[in-house]
Amino acid sequence: MEGRFVRTLVLFIVLTVVFGVLEKFWPSIPNQRKWRQGVWLDTFYWFFTPMVIQVLSIIAIALVLLPFYLLLERSLAWESILAGYGAFGQLPLWLQGLIAIVVGDFIGYWTHRWHHTSQLWDYHAIHHSSKTIDWLTAVRLHPVNDIISRVMQASPLMLLGLSPIAVELYTPLLSAYVAFIHANVSWTYGPFRYLLASPAFHRWHHTMDQEGWGKNFAGLFPIYDVMFGTFYLPSRQPKNFGLYNEEITESFVGHFLHPFRHWKFTKKWLVQRGGNHS
Ligand SMILES: [Zn+2]
Repeated sequence: MEGRFVRTLVLFIVLTVVFGVLEKFWPSIPNQRKWRQGVWLDTFYWFFTPMVIQVLSIIAIALVLLPFYLLLERSLAWESILAGYGAFGQLPLWLQGLIAIVVGDFIGYWTHRWHHTSQLWDYHAIHHSSKTIDWLTAVRLHPVNDIISRVMQASPLMLLGLSPIAVELYTPLLSAYVAFIHANVSWTYGPFRYLLASPAFHRWHHTMDQEGWGKNFAGLFPIYDVMFGTFYLPSRQPKNFGLYNEEITESFVGHFLHPFRHWKFTKKWLVQRGGNHS
């Protein structure tokens, strides 16, 4: 637990410096305030997620996988679980990790899109609630949203037979990358824009302007958005962020309770947040 906290703190300090430099020299929105509304709340999420949500997610993934493993008569010995199963479990760890990223991002695309086009939007709205988008916005996630995404991504990969070590192999790198695509950085990657998600690509996903609704769901590979008709990257930079017509209390408790208060499902959101693309 203590090691986990220290790792999170070190990564926080490193990323503050790195993204501080990038946001200063290549800003998407020049002179955007660093001490914006919600900065302490997002800092709280930064530590809360690895300390609490990651642990709860592991328990949830284990509960989802257990009946399948029993059905498949997989050995439940700790070494067997760590080693993975079948042909996929035999592959070198780095290759398993690569497969996990590519397949995981495909699942991530659809899980994210599902959050935009169903009642799950009420949970995902928390992630979209910040009116200022910078690298720290990345961690603003309702625990239900976060746990569902992790379970949806990790469980099928482990059912394939990939080792959980491989599934987790690139997690620190990916967490830093997810923070980066939220950063106030103008990069689009030019001709490589379809290959890898850029800050401009993901910041368009966060715009409150209608042109960006239901666009750019991929976390890493925009090719999934191209394939499924949701890619959007004009040459301008997005300017307005946040929710179109919803107010959410800016506190952890406010965030947590929001979906339960807002239980009544409005069909309107389906259209506004991307349901018209299914
Ligand atoms: Zn979203």
